[in-house]
Amino acid sequence: MSDEQQIERMKTLLDAQKKAFAADRHRSIDERKADIEKVGDLVKHHAKDIMDAIAADYGARSCAETQIAEIGFTISAAKHARSHVAKWAKPKRASVPLTLAPGKAYVRREPKGVAGIISPWNYPLQLAFTPLIAALAAGCRAIIKPSEFTPRTAELMARMLAEAFDENHVAVITGGPAVGEAFAKLPFDHLFYTGSTHVGRLVAMAAADNLVPVTLELGGKSPAIITEDYDLTEAAKPLTWGKYFNAGQTCIAPDYVLAPKDKVRATGEAILAEVQSYYPEPGSDPDYTAIISDKHHQRLSRMIEEARAGGATILQPEMGETGNVRKIPPTIVLDPPLESKLMQEEIFGPVLPVLGYETLNGAISFVNDRDHPLALYVYAKDKAVARRVLDATMSGGASVNASMLHMSVEGMPFGGVGKSGYGAYHGEHGFLTFSHERAVFEAPVWHPSRWIAPPYGKRFDFISK
Ligand code: NAD
Repeated sequence: MSDEQQIERMKTLLDAQKKAFAADRHRSIDERKADIEKVGDLVKHHAKDIMDAIAADYGARSCAETQIAEIGFTISAAKHARSHVAKWAKPKRASVPLTLAPGKAYVRREPKGVAGIISPWNYPLQLAFTPLIAALAAGCRAIIKPSEFTPRTAELMARMLAEAFDENHVAVITGGPAVGEAFAKLPFDHLFYTGSTHVGRLVAMAAADNLVPVTLELGGKSPAIITEDYDLTEAAKPLTWGKYFNAGQTCIAPDYVLAPKDKVRATGEAILAEVQSYYPEPGSDPDYTAIISDKHHQRLSRMIEEARAGGATILQPEMGETGNVRKIPPTIVLDPPLESKLMQEEIFGPVLPVLGYETLNGAISFVNDRDHPLALYVYAKDKAVARRVLDATMSGGASVNASMLHMSVEGMPFGGVGKSGYGAYHGEHGFLTFSHERAVFEAPVWHPSRWIAPPYGKRFDFISK
């Protein structure tokens, strides 16, 4: 289907979904549970198709990583939502002040309506289906616009969802930026966007025209601070796993490391040793994922070359044969120039700069001189030191002595702050994102508040009393 046809189709779909929502505003909890279960079951039944489609889109994608980050992650999000949705959807009582008694005050958590979900390529199933689960839990309908960089996965998701849902309930629109741009201009009841900060801004501007509420799940440069007392080989393990999982194409991957100045080289070497034990031959290693496109591969290669030309030390393992697959070696860059692209842009690939700091306050200032990141990592034996770093900085989320794990705790909000985005999801936070909290006050027929009426006389003169 051409972009023009997709644009026409999305308008028809939105109209149909809005009408269907207006005709049936309150999906029962049992219906919502069934909707959520369908998504979990689809993922289970199509697990092999999902692994194949993502591997074909990437050229090479670790099957284990697809199992962990797409299949397993989505199934557990569905299980969690299914078992908690009844509690989340219950009206929440508020206490009534004496001046308004007698009466009942409560907040109804109502579905917003039709949600638009724009998703990126780096975890193409997880980042489309987990917001979908949240929308379905809230009782919404949804249209998903996946990334053009993962066309096979996008087609597969469209087929899977069509097996289980009527398209006036859940549908998929495929296409590139032109389709995304038209999609963001539609009057959805909520727009949920995951992707780059640059496009996020465009999406927010388009949505503002219709006053559509938006969630922006963006990126940024997530720092990892190794403090003086922390063993470097211990820090290297989670850092290496977090950085090279999906070949660094993860929004919360550690983007750069700040280590005590005299330990920069030792930090780089400790990470290189871990890399060599994880991926003895990254070129042909089925657990080492490829880069999504030639364009992204060229960008990363240029970044490494620019840092090398600027005098940085580059550490890389032996790559071995890559065949025709687009891989970038797991790379560590010691002391890259601060004005280089590596330190100016989110890297979003398997390249890890390591920079030195003189004092912990200096490391904190380095982080605070930049945009608020999506994640922050601190490695400290002393809990008080870790807390000091958390107190002095701001980020969407954080892990202490670990990397990326905060995002796997279902009950916690996942989202950015400042340039890394606004709004959040996961668990109840996702449910709330797609819900309208409607405040209701219920008065008995003869409620004393009817005395609050003119003529007021002196009854409400709070100043001279
Ligand atoms: P991208 O912004 O290029 O694309 C994301 C989606 O937006 C795609 O579906 C694309 O077709 C669509 N799009 C492109 N132009 C558009 C426009 N003008 N209007 C509306 N939609 C448009 O991002 P990407 O390269 O796919 O993803 C990488 C970025 O996403 C990184 O910055 C990464 O940090 C971020 N990310 C964030 C999270 C998170 O949860 N916060 C998760 C994954 C990725």
